[in-house]
Amino acid sequence: MLPLKEKDKPIVQKLLSAGCCARCVLRFCCVSVQAAYRQPQQDTLKELQAFISSTENSKAESTEENTKSHGAAGSEPPDDPPSKRAKLAPGVADAPSEEDAAAVVKLKDGESCVCVVCLGILQELCGTTQAVKIAEAVKAEKYEFDTLVLSVSLPAQLCVREHSCWLHVKKEMREKSVALDKDDVVQVKEAFKWIMQGQVAKALGGVAVVTRSLFEVGVEFTHPETDADCHFLASSCPDCFKPTKNKQSVFTRMAVVKALEKISDGKFLKHYPCPPAQPTSSCSPRDVQCLHVSVFVAGRYNKFCRSLPQTPWVIDGERRMESSVEELIAAPVLSSFRAGGFNFSSSGREDVDVRTLGNGRPFAMELLNPHRSRLSKVEMKQLQETINNSSDKIRVRDLQIVTREAMSRMKEGEEEKTKSYTALVWTQKPIQSEDITFIDDIKDLTLDQKTPLRVLHRRALAIRQRVIHSMSTRFLDSHHFYLGLKTQAGTYIKEFVHGDFGRTKPNLCQLLKTDTDILELDVESVDVDWPPSIPE
Ligand code: ZN
Repeated sequence: MLPLKEKDKPIVQKLLSAGCCARCVLRFCCVSVQAAYRQPQQDTLKELQAFISSTENSKAESTEENTKSHGAAGSEPPDDPPSKRAKLAPGVADAPSEEDAAAVVKLKDGESCVCVVCLGILQELCGTTQAVKIAEAVKAEKYEFDTLVLSVSLPAQLCVREHSCWLHVKKEMREKSVALDKDDVVQVKEAFKWIMQGQVAKALGGVAVVTRSLFEVGVEFTHPETDADCHFLASSCPDCFKPTKNKQSVFTRMAVVKALEKISDGKFLKHYPCPPAQPTSSCSPRDVQCLHVSVFVAGRYNKFCRSLPQTPWVIDGERRMESSVEELIAAPVLSSFRAGGFNFSSSGREDVDVRTLGNGRPFAMELLNPHRSRLSKVEMKQLQETINNSSDKIRVRDLQIVTREAMSRMKEGEEEKTKSYTALVWTQKPIQSEDITFIDDIKDLTLDQKTPLRVLHRRALAIRQRVIHSMSTRFLDSHHFYLGLKTQAGTYIKEFVHGDFGRTKPNLCQLLKTDTDILELDVESVDVDWPPSIPE
């Protein structure tokens, strides 16, 4: 039994006559019992027909009233041209009679009748065949998932048709003084999910289809035949339809909903038939789109090579270096997680000719649309080995899956962290080991660093204060020594050594009273205590 009340009878009658499908009738009667939608639509239709013809007497009465008030309502906006109605059920609009129900039954028994509101979505596009198609598309993608959420994208003109149909029943309701709130009407999307979720779940072998999941299966419908339904809104509400770069059409669902909220009933009815015109075809389902939320992987990397950039080095579309740290790490990770893409970030970065030694530099990767999202500790360890065996230019440690939130810890307070370096320094004047030992005693030396010339093309000109916490020297020969530095993150080491034409003050040239240059630089440690270390 459908949960309908006597007051619903005229609405049911009116909607069936207008060319609504059985499930859309339930929606407009605000039926929220999901089982009512799940039963075969033909059964629902039969029940609806039985319902409206059940108490002939009361129906006749109500139709009489209806006819009377219709005649009296001179201020009503004009109905759409009679020819459109005539196609459905001649005479229904102006003088409903007992024959109408029969006329509707006859018409609705025909298989080819596409619903004027849902454009077939709650009809043949909503059933086992469609559910199996969706399930097959999901299976073909070979995702790993426990649950899924079904999302539905409908053509924007469905809102226009919904609005038209709502005005159609509202008119009736006003005459009967029954309050009907548009928000109480069950949405096509909602009804579609009620019907399809269980069927898709079954077709996928019992996976849970839920309202929130990491894995989303998107079903999209289009209906080119009625795309023009929305066009009149553009002239009545030009503000709502502003061209945007990314969208193909200005008639997005959101813009249409906004325009429908603004437009007056009278204006709407002047430009759009009420109820909507009969379509000749159903919506077309587009390819099923699967999307898994990102997985985040973090670790630390060493770089042992002085000719490897951190990220792909491309100038004017041309590659300057064969590979990069990012690519060497990403390739095996992407294939393990079968991800569609990635974003790489790290705690600072080193120049192409700088090595990163010690415990390495923390990095994190966002893996986009991963088909696999869980790897065991053992599998992560194997992945780490795969990366490390693929190249001797880099090495990765502490590779692990982290949360999106944890990832932000890497960037947090980055400026306050310390970094340790070793620089190979050349001096113009010959030196003896005694000449440089005084440097070991310098503590917390504050530098004023004007943006280095070499990064001026990408960083704003400014003077930044940075602190060298401590230094240590190791004499090599009369023109060379190793300089160890513990500095605040963000200190430009190369510029401190050669002075950058006086742009960094004080600098090593000033301290040693001779020209100095930096021949090699190694990052010894990046003191960020994230990600947590994993014992070997
Ligand atoms: Zn429908």
